[in-house]
Amino acid sequence: MLIIIGGGWAGLACAAALKRHASQPICIFEAAPRLGGRARGLLWSDRNIDNGQHLTIGAYERTLALLQAAGAPAWIRTPLNWCGLGRDAKIEQQWRVPSLAWPGRALWAAIPGLGPQGWPRAWRLSMAQTLIALHRQGWTLPDPSRADSENQSVARWLSQRRVPLGLIQHFWQPLTEGALNTELETARASTLIRVLRDSLAGPAGACDVLVPRHNLSIDGVEPIAAWLARQGVKIESGHRVKYVKPTEAGRWQVELVASGTQRSIAADAVIMALPFHASQRLWSDSALALTAASRRWSRLDHRAITTIWIALTEEQEQRLSHLPKWFVLNAIAGLPHCGQVVVRRERTLGVVISAQNAIRSDQDRDRIASQLAIQLRQQLKLEYSACDTKWITEKTATWACTVDAPQPSLDEQEGQTGLPGLFRCADDLVAHYPATIESAVRSAEATADGVIRFLSGR
Ligand SMILES: Cc1cc2nc3c(=O)[nH]c(=O)nc-3n(C[C@H](O)[C@H](O)[C@H](O)COP(=O)(O)OP(=O)(O)OC[C@H]3O[C@@H](n4cnc5c(N)ncnc54)[C@H](O)[C@@H]3O)c2cc1C
Repeated sequence: MLIIIGGGWAGLACAAALKRHASQPICIFEAAPRLGGRARGLLWSDRNIDNGQHLTIGAYERTLALLQAAGAPAWIRTPLNWCGLGRDAKIEQQWRVPSLAWPGRALWAAIPGLGPQGWPRAWRLSMAQTLIALHRQGWTLPDPSRADSENQSVARWLSQRRVPLGLIQHFWQPLTEGALNTELETARASTLIRVLRDSLAGPAGACDVLVPRHNLSIDGVEPIAAWLARQGVKIESGHRVKYVKPTEAGRWQVELVASGTQRSIAADAVIMALPFHASQRLWSDSALALTAASRRWSRLDHRAITTIWIALTEEQEQRLSHLPKWFVLNAIAGLPHCGQVVVRRERTLGVVISAQNAIRSDQDRDRIASQLAIQLRQQLKLEYSACDTKWITEKTATWACTVDAPQPSLDEQEGQTGLPGLFRCADDLVAHYPATIESAVRSAEATADGVIRFLSGR
């Protein structure tokens, strides 16, 4: 028996990868009543929303392969249109990134008339220069052999490149906060560069934006789970694993509770498909000896994300229909800047507050709610009342991709935890990759390979 703890995207992807090679029965235990973890859909009144808006792009190769293998419905795919909105729903800057393969995209950034609209010449030149310099450097920092290059923040890298302040405010800052959920001043530059390599410098379509037709559960989690179940994978929701214990026979005992009843199951291998804080808790509840992998978790930190879903009237939806599915709210002098990014869904708008505007108390929330109402009235000409909104705050949305967040070792990237037969996959286990659905899926596939090697070497 192979037991996977956690039914988020990492757990589901791990089961799919294991199923291809392992002969043992596979079982996923998920503590919550529903699968999908942080990237799951919800029904709000009769509206389909997600547990926080998720930006997914064409570069998510492994996620898209998983969806396709499971026969999930195709997501809505549009070329990236990087739009910055000023007052009165007016588009101030717009960069339609073509679905061309690199280097077409870099040249596009610089061509007057064809490249970004509303970008001064200095911004366009700076963007083209940065992309071409990165290409020449092999998508690393100028001198990756220097010890401090790992610790370079995005802010420092941009300042060394003398990037114009306006371009930082309108492009680099929202990009960094959106992709890494970490503030510019401490976000790790090498990770942002990896994101750029895979998207802007990736193959044709790598920058395209993908949005589920309904929500992440209907168009992703549920079809994947159904496909796994058809292949014999057992999936048990509402089952929390309390602790795991190595046995003398070199196997593992998994103790879990469901509806108040405790049971114990023996496993040949256990895979923790859990974020670092949940892994830390399970490790400590299991009284396992500290290893290099488990020590690293204590050096990681979180960042919160709040998403405010706003129910739109037909008239409001019509009025905003000229905007892309996903756009940036520019910072405007004299206006609060709480909402940073907006996603347009059917009859609903999702406004994202990431990285810096963390909501820690009811007072924070009240203050931000009233500031956001002012901001959206001015920027989107949107009037709404509190009962037209649904706030979702995920305090541990992602690990903080800061310069001092330790990278996973090669062993960890293969799923090793330091204890034989106990593995882990998660979104912090792909080197130089931020917390995303794609890193969860990639880590799951690498861990499944590690599990197969372990089982065949027994
Ligand atoms: C608001 C928000 C916005 C985000 N935006 C983006 C985005 O734009 N693009 C993007 O790609 N990614 C985004 N992410 C990150 C993305 O959601 C995660 O990286 C990804 O979902 C991680 O999947 P996972 O399976 O590794 O972890 P999780 O989704 O956390 O799954 C772990 C699962 O384990 C379960 N569990 C925990 N403890 C136990 C236990 N003891 N026993 C059994 N089960 C247990 C949990 O209930 C959970 O279901 C966002 C996340 C949030 C919260």
